[in-house]
Amino acid sequence: MKRILVTGGAGFVGSHLCDRLLNEGNEVICLDNYFTGSKKNIEHLMDHHYFELVRHDITNPYMVEVDEIYNLACPASPIHYQHNPIKTVKTSVMGAINMLGLAKRVGAKILQASTSEVYGDPTVHPQPESYWGNVNPIGLRSCYDEGKRCAETLFMDYHNQNNVKIKIIRIFNTYGPRMHPQDGRVVSNFIMQALQGDDITIFGDGTQTRSFQYVDDLIEGTHRMMHSNDSFIGPVNIGNPIEFTMLDLAKEVIDLIGSKSKITFLPLPEDDPLQRQPDISLAKKELGGWEPKIQLKEGLRHTINYFDNLLKEN
Ligand code: NAD
Ligand code: UDP
Repeated sequence: MKRILVTGGAGFVGSHLCDRLLNEGNEVICLDNYFTGSKKNIEHLMDHHYFELVRHDITNPYMVEVDEIYNLACPASPIHYQHNPIKTVKTSVMGAINMLGLAKRVGAKILQASTSEVYGDPTVHPQPESYWGNVNPIGLRSCYDEGKRCAETLFMDYHNQNNVKIKIIRIFNTYGPRMHPQDGRVVSNFIMQALQGDDITIFGDGTQTRSFQYVDDLIEGTHRMMHSNDSFIGPVNIGNPIEFTMLDLAKEVIDLIGSKSKITFLPLPEDDPLQRQPDISLAKKELGGWEPKIQLKEGLRHTINYFDNLLKEN
């Protein structure tokens, strides 16, 4: 049995990861400051003998004896990470320093949840890990993008300078149950709007693209990365390579729900990337043939059920 620390464990992705690690018989310490996560996401785990919940902010050091650390703590949706941009940078940078320091002291292996945002508004398509990106360092999204880029730098430096065992994954747009219903991300927005018969808000003309990954596929890829060969540290892209326009997504959500919602067009936010699609050849090669299994329609059905139940509860 391993003792595993999951920072951001009360969030959308973190809570699914806690489920998986506990199901495998590990002891899990879930650390969160509840900025965007909630106790509701992990309430089903509260009575679990091997689950421990700690309220803590990773911008402050934390000391615990663990074998592995998954560093997920960071707001991930534009409205949340732009709410207090200085705090977002601190969470990524000081949080990485604190967690890497902990990994160094206790000899733990540590995985960083990085992001496709390190590629910015990419000029290479699809994006391989070798692409250095096209990020505006002083724009509205920089607190997130540059914070995550600096965290990757810190991970590499702790590895090279102090032999800390690291793993870096670059996560592409991921959706599923337990997303925050008001976090402004496109999948949660469209589903909530369609379920309530509100207008579907497309930013720009809707021709920008994203590649949507269902959360179970991300958890499988993340798990395989943590257990991959020690010599493979990444970064590795974890995402679904099937690309959709926001117009495609809106139509799919309206169809699946049978909603009467109309589509409305609003201005495109600053520095909104025009296209995004992961090249996952490295993940396939290094992570035992890993590739996403759940296609958009199926993943959307699970997510729609989740939000539908949430609306009925309230
Ligand atoms: P989320 O907002 O649901 O989860 C983040 C969690 O971190 C929340 O529970 C929040 O309360 C916690 N947190 C934030 N700041 C903290 C701090 N200073 N100290 C302690 N806890 C803190 O987002 P998510 O979608 O689950 O994302 C999880 C991770 O994956 C993030 O690091 C995010 O950058 C990364 N990621 C996610 C996506 C995606 O599409 N979901 C894509 C790329 C990268
Ligand atoms: N978007 C949209 N309507 C919304 C929310 C988002 O058209 O109600 C667009 C947004 O402009 C972006 C894409 O959907 O082009 C994905 O946005 P999200 O915030 O989910 O993820 P990110 O931009 O971080 O990839």
